[in-house]
Amino acid sequence: KRERVTLSQQNAVEARNAVKAFGQGDNAVRALNDVSIEIRKGEFFTLLGPSGCGKTTLLRLIAGFEMPTSGTILLEGADITYLPPNQRPVNTVFQSYALFPHLTVAQNIGFGLQMQGRPKAEVKATVDRMLALVKLEAMASRKTSQLSGGQQQRVALARALAPSPKVLLLDEPLSALDLKLRREMQGELKRLQTETGITFIFVTHDQEEALTMSDRIGVMSAGKLQQVGTPREIYTRPHNRFVASFIGETNFLPATSDGSTLTLPGGYQIEAPAGTKAGQVTVTVRPEQVKLSPTPEAGTLPATVRGVVYMGTDMNYQLHLADGTEIEACVVSDVTGEAALAAGQTVGVRFTPGAAQVLED
Ligand code: ATP
Repeated sequence: KRERVTLSQQNAVEARNAVKAFGQGDNAVRALNDVSIEIRKGEFFTLLGPSGCGKTTLLRLIAGFEMPTSGTILLEGADITYLPPNQRPVNTVFQSYALFPHLTVAQNIGFGLQMQGRPKAEVKATVDRMLALVKLEAMASRKTSQLSGGQQQRVALARALAPSPKVLLLDEPLSALDLKLRREMQGELKRLQTETGITFIFVTHDQEEALTMSDRIGVMSAGKLQQVGTPREIYTRPHNRFVASFIGETNFLPATSDGSTLTLPGGYQIEAPAGTKAGQVTVTVRPEQVKLSPTPEAGTLPATVRGVVYMGTDMNYQLHLADGTEIEACVVSDVTGEAALAAGQTVGVRFTPGAAQVLED
């Protein structure tokens, strides 16, 4: 019991068996369906999933804007499930920024501290520190209505960070920005998180954003947490079909397992990952882990090139196996224009050792 308490204190936020239902009876929607998650202190954690999967609902339970139907929310080991939002050391940055247009940048940033009744000198010192942190020193006395979208975003971040929350919640904060600015702000957010050491919980439906920014990612679908892991774990070791296909392009292939060897269509055999059960399984392999040779050599899987797409830095091939199974291969840099394989050609397919992943469902 004591060990459990200590471990909980090491987590910034924990949800235990969180359920959130909206509406009654047949019309009830389970926005969260038994979600348990542990978010560690000081990490950049991303909740990733398609629209309607429950990301915002989980964030709102952590912020205290909603109460769960059942389950518990903990902050550093303490039960905060029913604590009002203003009593939680948690702040939120909304997609809409929600800045006060008639106040200056400095007044916006200092607003929360002033409401808490902090001494004037302390408010000014913190505001100055925050202005430097988001590199807006020169804009301190401008009205926020006179700022660009990127600058408004920085003010919203500075305002949320000013009271030194233990956890900062960010609900799709970059979605209103154009692509170039978005990239720039991704770097900024990462820098702010590292410099302040505050736990960030970031919500996005953009898989690339999640992969590049996060220490760990929680992938959600239909009110359930599908998998939690580092970007590399999520990308290279997806547990199920949803996670594999939501994060990047991939191939699914049927295989027969005897526990140690996987036999794929055409009799191609690879080593089964440890713990693979015997029987019919589904294997996933990323296109860039599919290797091609211009002729079907021994130990490769013969396939016919059906489509060739030039993508600038790489070539993408659609292949058909003899039984009609489709595979996509993405060949990077080692096949250039002239050497490219042509549609109709028969090639040999191999997978990079260890690249094939057996899915749970
Ligand atoms: P998005 O990326 O579109 O914001 P999301 O993953 O954040 O999606 P949620 O906003 O958490 O998803 O919504 C999850 C589900 O709960 C959806 O089906 C949504 O329609 C439903 N829902 C959310 N809030 C309410 C509410 N107040 N009343 C009824 N249903 C709700």
